[in-house]
Amino acid sequence: MSKFFTQRLENLVPYVPGEQPQDKKYVKLNTNESPFPPSSGVKKAVSDEVESLKLYSDPECVALRNEMSRVYNIEPEWIIMNNGSDETLNFAFMAFADEKSPLVFPDITYGFYPVFAEINHIPYEEIPLTSDFSVNTEDYIGVNKTVVIANPNAPTGKCMPLCDIEKIVKSNPQNIVIVDEAYIDFGGETAVPLVKKYNNLFVTGTFSKSRSMAGVRLGFGIANPELIKDINTIKYSTNPYNIDRLTSIAGVTALKEQDYYDKNCKTIIENREWTTKQLESIGFSVIPSKANFVFAKSCEIEGEKLYLSLKEKGVLIRHFTKERIKDYNRITIGTMEQMKILIEKIKEIREEMNL
Ligand code: PMP
Repeated sequence: MSKFFTQRLENLVPYVPGEQPQDKKYVKLNTNESPFPPSSGVKKAVSDEVESLKLYSDPECVALRNEMSRVYNIEPEWIIMNNGSDETLNFAFMAFADEKSPLVFPDITYGFYPVFAEINHIPYEEIPLTSDFSVNTEDYIGVNKTVVIANPNAPTGKCMPLCDIEKIVKSNPQNIVIVDEAYIDFGGETAVPLVKKYNNLFVTGTFSKSRSMAGVRLGFGIANPELIKDINTIKYSTNPYNIDRLTSIAGVTALKEQDYYDKNCKTIIENREWTTKQLESIGFSVIPSKANFVFAKSCEIEGEKLYLSLKEKGVLIRHFTKERIKDYNRITIGTMEQMKILIEKIKEIREEMNL
């Protein structure tokens, strides 16, 4: 830290993103990207847009919000587009949480929540997941704080039924409940229709997972127009042009080609079920997942050892050092070909260990 770094942030511990290795080509199952390329129209639309890069992008994202409105069946005033759901979440924390309305979220969840809380000086409480890694709905009933729930949760992949989300929202009318739906398209039930019923519900989503666009950084929030206005206050006070022209046209085109992405989600779900069975047959316990990843623990191989051995064999998965989950690894679901390589390499490792 330089002597110029502000004292206000001297204790800030930044988020550690998953590895994006540049050295060699891995079977990359570590950051929950889609193994499928963007739909066919996206490439042409993006290259046609290059001519217009001399102009600023549209801060209101009218074209994008209109397409979103069609796909999500909700008026454009209920939607805001941002630079990834990371930015949407940061803006929502800034807008809806403070000393008087501190944050509450599970102890095992998306690692960016405590970092966004710290950078915005928002106090937070972490509520332990139950022993089987479930969110205990009762813990959040009338909790009287700004609630953040990833549904499905990460890195566990466990999904809460919509009726439980609704109970939490209903019981905290004086606070915002943020539901992070980064992985909702892989089998969960979205809370988007509930925003018409509850003015304290803020749902976030992303194009990074089910729409194969982690590289363009496109995320969104859906909520009552009053809340969308609040987020716009933050957005127009930081970076109104947070969606660039290439991202915007990529997003618009993807929404027009939604069938392609729906088909890919179906394939990922099938591959997830196949991978779960395979892992279970070689001594893993796998948490039932509704996401594009599984969270799995070998009864025989330590979490870190498995991660390192697979990396050596060219397969990258995600290991977390937090005590409670250090024996687990999070494995992104890729193509069937990739999943077969994963299983083959794990079998090799077991043989090498004489298991
Ligand atoms: N929420 C959760 C639960 C995530 O795992 C991620 C991806 N790391 C994000 C939000 C952020 O996604 P993005 O910024 O790519 O939209």
